[in-house]
Amino acid sequence: MTTQATTDLIARAKQYWLPVYHPRDMVLDHGKGARVWDTDGREYVDFSAGIAVNSLGYGDPDLIAALTGQAGKLWHTSNAFYTEPPLRLAEELVRASGFAQRVFFCNSGGEANEAAIKLVRKWAAAQGRPPEKRVVLTFNGSFHGRTLATVTATAQPKYQAGYEPLPQGFRHIPFNDAGAVEAALAAGDVAAVMLEPVQGEGGIVPAAPGYLKRVRELCDAHDALLVLDEIQCGMGRTGTLFAHAQDGIQPDIVTLAKALGCGFPIAAMLAGPRVADVMQYGAHGSTFGGNPMATAVARVALRKLGSPAVLGNVATQSQALRDGLAAINADLHLFQEIRGRGLMLGAALDTPYLGKAGDILGHAAAQGLLILQAGPNVLRLVPPLTIAGADVEEGLRRLRAALTAFKAA
Ligand SMILES: *Cc1c(COP(=O)(O)O)cnc(C)c1O
Repeated sequence: MTTQATTDLIARAKQYWLPVYHPRDMVLDHGKGARVWDTDGREYVDFSAGIAVNSLGYGDPDLIAALTGQAGKLWHTSNAFYTEPPLRLAEELVRASGFAQRVFFCNSGGEANEAAIKLVRKWAAAQGRPPEKRVVLTFNGSFHGRTLATVTATAQPKYQAGYEPLPQGFRHIPFNDAGAVEAALAAGDVAAVMLEPVQGEGGIVPAAPGYLKRVRELCDAHDALLVLDEIQCGMGRTGTLFAHAQDGIQPDIVTLAKALGCGFPIAAMLAGPRVADVMQYGAHGSTFGGNPMATAVARVALRKLGSPAVLGNVATQSQALRDGLAAINADLHLFQEIRGRGLMLGAALDTPYLGKAGDILGHAAAQGLLILQAGPNVLRLVPPLTIAGADVEEGLRRLRAALTAFKAA
């Protein structure tokens, strides 16, 4: 039951927030592992993890120790002075990446992609390419953020409508179609190809086997950079620390955010050898970027999310979730496809249920399960990477109950 106190709290959102979100009518209060409780004492299994952010679940003692330890020392100094955590984290990210030479820290995914786009342009400018030959090529169904440049890179009209005039220098083509990349690059005006190795918001769509390799070859042939947005699919989510490790390629730029701070805001842009020295003093910056609190937390996140224990759990629970979804579907016939990699899974609704993902989320919450949608037609499951088998099982039991209630409604 929702108490009056909770209803009163929520009324404040309706009155005072810019109404750009539509949260569920519950107020979350605390969490432990892969479970979370609301202010009325209801408990939920969390397959949403704050949109693929809380990859170590709730209440991880090492994250808490890193945050509280740093909180007692220094919160913020600005980039006019050094502190130790961002120095250490940059080195650790470079080492872990296997391709990057330098790192730029910022606070959100959109900012990391904005930095990547600026770096691409600066690189092209340094090569003497005129502005009209600095195009960033992106893909239908992509999502790269909400700033004006990143929303223009985002090839989904619903995010752009009403924000015109949009910045120039972006072109969109179909995803997973190497021929389309080849044709676009042949125009001779492309400075970079930017893509998500697994599209997230666009419906959990992984790059096809061999596709990234082909895109890399085409970029090389046409002297274009390859930028990977691993903001959602990176940091172990797909079973390797970096998603592109499974595609056997070296990108020029990678952006990270969501799980990098496991819930503490931080993002990073990693720059490989072709671009690491392009931006010099004054070329870019951020007041909060790389602050000691965020980077102290991210150091722990990086160490734990890259560990064999966590990555092994991703593989184990991925299979358990896939098997469970297939078993549910064998009885209820709701999905046309279950896709994704690791613990970034999408269940695409079958034709009769198109547009109904939002309704299903409501049924799931009523059964004590938090899941997400990726567009109106896809259920998105992105639990903490540390989720235990028992929590996966209980979540699947609640999902089955929710889907049964949805079908009966
Ligand atoms: C979430 C997301 C972003 C934007 O991140 P913000 O922190 O919301 O700015 C960009 N790219 C991808 C792939 C994302 O999933």
